[in-house]
Amino acid sequence: MKFSRLASCAERVARRGGRLAKIEALAELLAELDPDLVGPSVQMLAGELPGGKIGVGFATVRAARKEAHPSGETGTISIRELLETFEAIRGESGAGSKQRRVDRLSALFGRGTEAERDFLGRLLVGELRQGALTGLMIEAIARAAEVDPAGVRRAVMISGRLDEVAVAALQDGGAGLDRFRVEVFRPLQPMLASPAETPDAVFERIAEERLALEVKIDGARVQVHRHEDQVRIYSRQLHDVTHAAPELFELALRTAATRWIADGETFAVRADGSVHPFQTTMRRFGRSRDVDRLRGRLPLETRFFDLLLLGDEELIDEPLEARWNRLEELFPDHQAPRWRPPDSGSVQELYDEALERGHEGLMAKDLDSTYAAGSRGFQWLKIKPAHTLDLVVLAVEKGSGRRSGWLSNLHLGAFDPDTGGFVMLGKTFKGLTDDMLRWQTEHLGALETQVENGFIHHVRPELVVEIAYSNLQESPQYPAGIALRFARVKAHRPDRDAASATTIAEVRERFASEHGREPGNVPGTRSATDPASTDDGEHAE
Ligand code: AMP
Repeated sequence: MKFSRLASCAERVARRGGRLAKIEALAELLAELDPDLVGPSVQMLAGELPGGKIGVGFATVRAARKEAHPSGETGTISIRELLETFEAIRGESGAGSKQRRVDRLSALFGRGTEAERDFLGRLLVGELRQGALTGLMIEAIARAAEVDPAGVRRAVMISGRLDEVAVAALQDGGAGLDRFRVEVFRPLQPMLASPAETPDAVFERIAEERLALEVKIDGARVQVHRHEDQVRIYSRQLHDVTHAAPELFELALRTAATRWIADGETFAVRADGSVHPFQTTMRRFGRSRDVDRLRGRLPLETRFFDLLLLGDEELIDEPLEARWNRLEELFPDHQAPRWRPPDSGSVQELYDEALERGHEGLMAKDLDSTYAAGSRGFQWLKIKPAHTLDLVVLAVEKGSGRRSGWLSNLHLGAFDPDTGGFVMLGKTFKGLTDDMLRWQTEHLGALETQVENGFIHHVRPELVVEIAYSNLQESPQYPAGIALRFARVKAHRPDRDAASATTIAEVRERFASEHGREPGNVPGTRSATDPASTDDGEHAE
């Protein structure tokens, strides 16, 4: 198959609206691909380079695009040839290898159509990397392989690999999907929660007789796997972080059962046992060096709230109540505190109490619900003070005055699952301590894609930050017609991925509940990541 076919399909999918047509376009493409190209093509559509990184950064891509001359052969690149070129670039080393990489790439760019050049450029610098396509691709795989989308979704959530699932479904249909099982040392996508506006709003989603509440602990998500004397700890993004939490490692080895997967939250504690704020937890849990020294000063505690595998029994399709009972046997002393209202008080009372004790809020869960790996549904609801959002850094301005030398003022956007893009809502540098400025200067520097006017550093939209704000105001200068007022950075959240950030639909809902109406005067045609040309001045440095 020609690469241009894949690139134009990707272009079609990235356009606004028309979900069904997008699914159809992807399904047709999948059905036409040679079997050995299904995996790599799905990876590329999801923004991943088949075979992993090829050692090409933004500067090389820019040089290659500059040096490319249209060859008169546009649209002739095959997917196979593209993969061979990636392999060849990966193999380049030694003197002159940098230029040879540029040459190989510029030859490709020279033969590319506009859609191919755009797709390739964004693929290579990592700009396509986001989970936005997952939902569409699941439906497309189901359609192309003529299987139930629920089976495809389950396999993707268990394995975290769209490409492997596509290959299995297209080759062996339902039987191929059945091979994806919960296995130790193969982390699952964590189940996520939807926000509930108020404590009482949980009853709109979960019937009182099925409702259970847990404390929402302000820590870092951990998925712990044990098999005999081996233990692995995975972060929310499924990175192996075993080395970061020896306390948890030791706790896992003390259980009576020797094969299980548990889901929980780890957090740093003070001497009196109270929970440190998230930022402090990450000062400990986010480090891979000096762990033994830090352990004495900032010990970690863990509370579990779910059990996904015990022995050879897969538990994710069991109701929550049954999973809890099994968890109780495994970790009698290390579970997130939980209650069944109304026996224990009203949701509001328990919520107030949780906040008073310094917790982030409450989680409301449906006792009948199965573990929906990777999905954000209404079986888990989070109740926490409303005025915070998880936004993604789209660009950052060079600081001036006291902050010169640092990357300071953050341009922030909400996630738009329809386009896979981000919609800018405002800028802020408030709340950033010197430590945070130092940290973000280093981390955002590594994500840089281009510099505008010498001071706005555009970055790959990957870093999530937790933002507190006073209210949402109407603003014709921002693409959604909404801007944050008095925004302040609460915490960097490198533990989260951009596709799980607050969505623009959620922001619109919050605007509507704050103002009793939709925002007016939405420009709509503007590029979602195009920063408004002028700020309201409030947060400008
Ligand atoms: P949020 O990060 O605000 O979307 O809230 C969901 C996160 O809260 C989960 O990913 C967990 O890391 C965390 N959390 C804390 N306590 C619990 C709990 N009892 N049950 C589920 N998640 C929890």
